[in-house]
Formats: sequence, structure tokens, C-alpha cells
Amino acid sequence: MATGYDVIVLGLGGMGSAAADHLAARGARVLGLEQFGPVHDRGSSHGGSRITRQSYFEGPAYVPLLLRAYELYERLTRDANREIALLCGGLMIGRPDSRTVAGSVRSATEWDLPHEMLDAHEIRARFPMLAPADDEVALFERRAGLLRPEATVAAQLELAAAAGAELRFEEPVTAWEALPGGRGVRVTTPNGVYTAGHLVVCPGAWAPRQLADLGVPFTVERQIMYWFEPEGGTAPFEPDRHPVYVWEDPEGTQIYGFPALDGPGGGAKVAFFRQGIPCTPETIDRTVHPAEVAEMAAFAGARLPALPGRLLRAVTCMYTTTPDEHFVIAPHPAHPAVTVACGFSGHGFKFVPVVGEILADLALTGSTPHPIELFSPGRLGGRQT
Ligand SMILES: Cc1cc2nc3c(=O)[nH]c(=O)nc-3n(C[C@H](O)[C@H](O)[C@H](O)COP(=O)(O)OP(=O)(O)OC[C@H]3O[C@@H](n4cnc5c(N)ncnc54)[C@H](O)[C@@H]3O)c2cc1C
Repeated sequence: MATGYDVIVLGLGGMGSAAADHLAARGARVLGLEQFGPVHDRGSSHGGSRITRQSYFEGPAYVPLLLRAYELYERLTRDANREIALLCGGLMIGRPDSRTVAGSVRSATEWDLPHEMLDAHEIRARFPMLAPADDEVALFERRAGLLRPEATVAAQLELAAAAGAELRFEEPVTAWEALPGGRGVRVTTPNGVYTAGHLVVCPGAWAPRQLADLGVPFTVERQIMYWFEPEGGTAPFEPDRHPVYVWEDPEGTQIYGFPALDGPGGGAKVAFFRQGIPCTPETIDRTVHPAEVAEMAAFAGARLPALPGRLLRAVTCMYTTTPDEHFVIAPHPAHPAVTVACGFSGHGFKFVPVVGEILADLALTGSTPHPIELFSPGRLGGRQT
């Protein structure tokens, strides 16, 4: 049995690579275990872009974490010398009383975040590719924009390895257990059995299997990202003039999208937020069907008429959603030597480095100064102790 690790990290996707980075930077002896290769496309952290924003309609409680995440993303960009963030500005669009607009205004007001309110006429004048209805408005946030998920994970893995973390790929965890008497954890893979003082579990869409004893009813959802070459070319969709956006219709359906990225052939990405089909990582249908493309082209085309020119590609991804769409980040209620980070409900990527910082705090000291009360599994009727 191999021994001698302070912390084992299960899963090296967005959150696990962040945890490994922060733990190794603090001098912990870290073993990271990932079932696939580094920076893969079979979980939740692929697809070239993720929205980041601060006037958070999901709730003002997230704002302090976002402010810290922005700082840590800047640091990551510097330390890894990679392009990770592109702050091209962002619009939260809908009727004034929609969750997207009213929730964003609430967070902006409560935290005094810089923002502008635009009416439909002003939206059309400033962003001519967008065709809002007359009764729609938007909150514009200059510091919103996008993050590069693959570059983020690669940077965190590089920094973790450079700081001494041992990262093993193609090595799935087949079992883990907390040892009695607070003597740490034992983790089994096809290659061996490892022990450590602490285990951090970041399993993404594999949470229902890895964390069944949490008692949280996760729903894993199949989501689709679509890249279109706009009618008339990408020039008006370039990030120097086109923002990221979340757009809510009167029924509450949200789409979100990005400027055109990655040069000719890159296209502009758009997707439905939520509305996914329940699946498992084993049964997910990775084929995107013509009826799905037609539905997206119609919905997006009603709002950005030039966008759905020609479909370039469509790729699936998974959300792991909790009943209230808030995260689960906490010490495992039954095992003090285990910390869990899961259920990111389709909006976790913008928090990746601050989640890494929180997980390092919890694994090494048992507590964190960050406000994570909202993320306790107990709120969902899960296991309390
Ligand atoms: C289409 C789509 C769009 C999104 N858009 C946004 C957005 O715009 N903004 C935003 O903030 N968020 C967004 N998100 C959400 C965000 O990307 C996720 O919350 C985040 O990537 C989750 O990271 P994770 O580490 O939990 O999961 P993952 O990155 O999937 O990592 C989990 C890892 O655990 C590994 N693993 C699982 N079981 C085992 C095992 N037994 N042994 C070893 N390894 C194991 C997996 O292989 C995987 O690598 C989006 C997600 C999707 C799918």
C-alpha cells in the first residue's frame, strides 16, 4: 500500500485541478487521480468558452466568491502565462421582472457593482446583431466576459505538477473509504491502494455514484453547445464589438451565447441554459439531432437574426444539478477526512479557482473564511452528520 500523501484529489476536471493547484502551492503532498486523460471532453469542462459575470442573478451570496474568483483567475493567467479570460462585456437580457434581469440588478445593487441599464432601443443601437422585443431591457456589465475552460484546466494541472503534485491519468478510483478513528482515507484504483490524511472528491457528473451516501438527489443533464457561422460573416460578432449574453424569454427559457472566437471556422457559440435531458455519463447520447439544431436555430434566430447562418458543429456536455441549483461544497457530513465539491448545476466554471482555494482550506485546516453556508448538503435533506 502506497502511503504518505497529505491529500488525494479524486477527479482532475475544473474543480479537482484547481484543488490540486491550491493544495500543492501550499506545500501539501498531493496525489491527483483522473479516470481519463488531462483536459478531456467527456465531463463538464470542455467546449472552448464559459461565461463569467459578477451581477449574479442566481443570488447575491455568490458575489464575494466571484470577486475572489476574478482575482484568482488573473493570478492564474499570470502564473501560467496563458490566455484564459476575455472580458468583452456581458448583457443580461429579458423583461424587467425576469429572473435574469431582476436578479442581476439585485446583485449589482446589493454589492454596488458597476453596471448600466439599457432599454431595447439602446441595446439595438449599441449591439446591432441583437434584436430585443420592445419590452425587453438589459443589464450591461463591462467586466463580464468569457473564460477558456481547457486552458484553465491545463494551467492548473501544470502549476500543480510544477509545485510537486503527483497527477495520475487513466487511473479511475474504484473505491474509497474513510479509515476508522480519523486515521485518514484509503483509495483504490486498478493500479494500487493509496492512503492519505484527507480526500477531496470532485467527481463532476459521476457524483451520483461517487457520493451516493450524501443523500443529495443530483440530476445529470445532457446539454448541447452549438457553433454557428453567422449569415454575412463573423465580423459583427467579433469580441471587440459583441458581448456575451444571457437572454430570458417571457416563459423563463434562457439561452446564452458568446462572440465569434478562434478565427475563421471558429463560429459563435450559443446554447440553452438548463432544459437538458436527464442522462448518466454512461448513457448520454453524444449525437446532436437535426430537430435539436432546428429548435436552437429558431430560438436564437428570433433574437439574433444573423446568428444561425450555418451550423459548424454541436457538442454535448453534462450539468450535475441539485434541486435548488446551488452548489455542494462542504466537509462530507459522515467523514471528517473527506471534502466534497459537486452539483455545480451548470454555472460552476466561473468559480473554479476560488473553489480550489476553499477546498484547500477545508482539506488542510477544516474550515474556510469564504462564505459557503449556502452550499451545505444538509439544506437538500441530505445527510446531516
Ligand atoms: C454546456 C455547458 C456550458 C456551461 N457553461 C458555463 C458557463 O458559461 N459559466 C459557468 O460558470 N459554468 C458553466 N458550465 C458549468 C461548468 O462548466 C461546470 O460547473 C464545471 O466545469 C464543473 O467542473 P467539475 O470539476 O465539477 O466537473 P468535471 O470538469 O467534469 O470534472 C470531474 C472529473 O472527475 C473525473 N472523475 C469522475 N469519477 C472519477 C473516478 N472514479 N476516478 C477518477 N476520476 C473521476 C472525471 O473524469 C472528470 O474529469 C457549463 C457546463 C456545460 C456542460
